[in-house]
Amino acid sequence: MNENHFEIIVAGAGPAGLTAAIYAARGGVRCAVAGGVAPGGQLLETTDIENFPGFPDPVTGPDLMIRMIKQAKRLGAQVLQEQLSGCDLSARPFTLTVGSKKLTCDALVIATGARARWLGLESETRFRNKGVSGCATCDGFFFKGKIIAVVGGGDTAAEDALFLTRFAEKVLLIHRRDQLRAAHRLQEKLLANPKIEIVYDHVPEEFLGGERLEALRVKNVKTGEKKELKLSAVFIAIGHDPETAVFGDALKKDAGGYLVTDARCATSIEGVYAAGDVMDPHYRQAIVAAGTGCMAAMEALNYLQERK
Ligand SMILES: Cc1cc2nc3c(=O)[nH]c(=O)nc-3n(C[C@H](O)[C@H](O)[C@H](O)COP(=O)(O)OP(=O)(O)OC[C@H]3O[C@@H](n4cnc5c(N)ncnc54)[C@H](O)[C@@H]3O)c2cc1C
Repeated sequence: MNENHFEIIVAGAGPAGLTAAIYAARGGVRCAVAGGVAPGGQLLETTDIENFPGFPDPVTGPDLMIRMIKQAKRLGAQVLQEQLSGCDLSARPFTLTVGSKKLTCDALVIATGARARWLGLESETRFRNKGVSGCATCDGFFFKGKIIAVVGGGDTAAEDALFLTRFAEKVLLIHRRDQLRAAHRLQEKLLANPKIEIVYDHVPEEFLGGERLEALRVKNVKTGEKKELKLSAVFIAIGHDPETAVFGDALKKDAGGYLVTDARCATSIEGVYAAGDVMDPHYRQAIVAAGTGCMAAMEALNYLQERK
């Protein structure tokens, strides 16, 4: 047996990649996961998760991911703590550089996720998970009856602001320009919602508080004037970057850089599938990532079966 050949290789060990690995391993094929330096994905960055089914009490992100890694390993998947740093998808089997090794595979599942864009302020990092979040769907529920801000001016920021009015007493939408980029219909909804106040021409300057976030200092970009907004949470909604650099231009991407797939997770190259946040600009949720990971692995297994 060629130790360096796998029927399925999964790139990325977040919820999508690990679910794909679980299904691939249970499908009876030799499967490896290029899991990066710290397998687990974005959920390693968070504390309590309340919306992943099967956990009546909150489960922490790291705990959930350790369980998924254990499950994939127990079923026989090799979870490698190595980065995928290069690939040749032009010939079969596909050749991947994983750590210092050249591995080959018959089918590839890409589950390299996406990274939320942050403002880059030191105080923003300090208050992450203590009032600063990149995910309204994930964390909005924790701020019932509070004053919340959303930073951004596009569709995601507008949707987040509208969503957060379900919980918040008031939502401040902070945008650096004097008009929003969000779709017209969303702007109409924002303006019609009495809980939303749009703070135009302002940028966050410093997140303030003790143990948790208590206020945000913002600066008017036109006048230079500064003010402090008392609030309990700030949601940063300035975009995400899908992690696709290693694939270069080999695969079809949309305008936002997300991998384009059909309804069955197939990419533009036969035998290459994508799952999770790397192909999903809409939901960006662990359960959806896991769901598409399952789909991608099942499709990869079908593909291998048909080639026999
Ligand atoms: C702070 C925070 C809180 C969140 N809370 C929730 C929540 O409560 N509920 C919920 O459902 N969702 C939540 N999410 C969203 C959720 O984490 C994502 O939707 C989910 O993790 C996406 O899974 P994924 O497997 O597609 O990608 P990811 O989790 O991003 O995993 C991809 C992995 O691939 C790795 N990778 C990238 N490139 C390479 C490479 N070249 N080689 C090897 N590995 C590579 C990455 O480093 C990463 O480890 C939260 C996200 C954040 C950031």
